[in-house]
Amino acid sequence: MTTYDVVVVGLGGAGSATAFHLAQGGSRVLGLEQFGPVHAHGSSHGRTRIYRTAYLEGAEYVPLVRRAQELWFSLQETSGEPILRKTGGLMIGRPDSRTVGGARRTAQTCALEHEMLSAADVARRFPQFALRDDEVALWDPNAGALFPENCIRVHAAGAVDAGAELHYGEAVQSWTAGRESVTVHTRSGEYRARSLVVTAGAWTASAVPELSLPLEVERQFMLWFPATDRSVTGPERMPVFLWERGPEEHTYGVPDFGDGVKVGTWRGKVAARPEEADREFHESDAAPIRAFVATALRGVGARESTHTSCLYTNAPDHHFLLGRHPSHANVVVVSACSGHGFKFTSVIGEVVARLARGEDPGYDLAGFDPARFGAGRRAP
Ligand SMILES: Cc1cc2nc3c(=O)[nH]c(=O)nc-3n(C[C@H](O)[C@H](O)[C@H](O)COP(=O)(O)OP(=O)(O)OC[C@H]3O[C@@H](n4cnc5c(N)ncnc54)[C@H](O)[C@@H]3O)c2cc1C
Repeated sequence: MTTYDVVVVGLGGAGSATAFHLAQGGSRVLGLEQFGPVHAHGSSHGRTRIYRTAYLEGAEYVPLVRRAQELWFSLQETSGEPILRKTGGLMIGRPDSRTVGGARRTAQTCALEHEMLSAADVARRFPQFALRDDEVALWDPNAGALFPENCIRVHAAGAVDAGAELHYGEAVQSWTAGRESVTVHTRSGEYRARSLVVTAGAWTASAVPELSLPLEVERQFMLWFPATDRSVTGPERMPVFLWERGPEEHTYGVPDFGDGVKVGTWRGKVAARPEEADREFHESDAAPIRAFVATALRGVGARESTHTSCLYTNAPDHHFLLGRHPSHANVVVVSACSGHGFKFTSVIGEVVARLARGEDPGYDLAGFDPARFGAGRRAP
């Protein structure tokens, strides 16, 4: 049986970055992916992802998001591929909304560059957005758009260049862990390694069933609206944005990189497992997004030209899972999702590589403990 230092289960956003950092650091890596390279069945497709720094989810994310940006720009420089494009970002809503209030708190706590804009300021500087009079915006000049398919492709290629073996179309069926090694089973064979990393995205709960993780899989649609006025919709003029119009009305958008302005919402239909997620596109999915575009955006058509579905993996507290398995120190469990994880996958790769080697991760990961929901703890 071939043996490795680390087996990585799942080669999407987090897994490809982990394989990259492990292999670049000299580890013998095997990556196993159930689908092909850069596929559209999980959480990391759809051409763009928002990168932002004034992190409304909490100041604890800021050291990670800063390091993530350094790593993305470094990947862009070494690969010559488009990875991260800075556009700036607007967090829009009423001053007391979570989107604006949370971003402002983090920006102040961490002394991040930012500016508060009134509706009139936004109308002057960003005429493509039509704010209500009682709405304001936080300007995050360091926000931008990532190109996730490129990120995954470049990370995977870099891992292979550094000696990693990546097997596509090979699903992990089960694994067992002892003190010194783990054994991983697929239909094609059995592999042994010192450590295991589970970066299985929407399949995380079934990849570590003994933890009974209370994760919900949420399917969401992204819609692309054709530009009617390219002078205001391109990335040189239009920032990425998050917009909270009400407690249940959360919308985000990305400028036109050639295929229209991308708009989506979050908090949608949930299922227990990815296979049960309803991927069919219903009028009820499009209607709120079209209504938002009609009233809030200028320079785009009223009907989308195309759409695609994607899966979020939500933890009950909407924070990541990132840490060692409570019963097996040589197994690392990662779910960097809850709808906001892609921007972190570069730094997650670096952190997980350290954990898998038994090193200090370099960050306080207490809030991301995979065992925080109670199940699967080692008996005292
Ligand atoms: C519509 C949408 C919009 C989003 N917008 C943003 C955004 O603007 N900014 C942001 O930062 N984040 C955003 N996110 C979240 C972000 O995209 C995800 O957090 C991130 O892509 C998750 O990466 P992952 O590696 O965990 O999952 P994935 O990339 O899906 O990778 C998991 C991989 O594991 C594989 N796998 C699973 N089980 C097995 C098995 N048993 N054997 C082998 N392989 C297996 C899967 O096939 C898959 O390839 C968004 C997500 C969605 C869906």
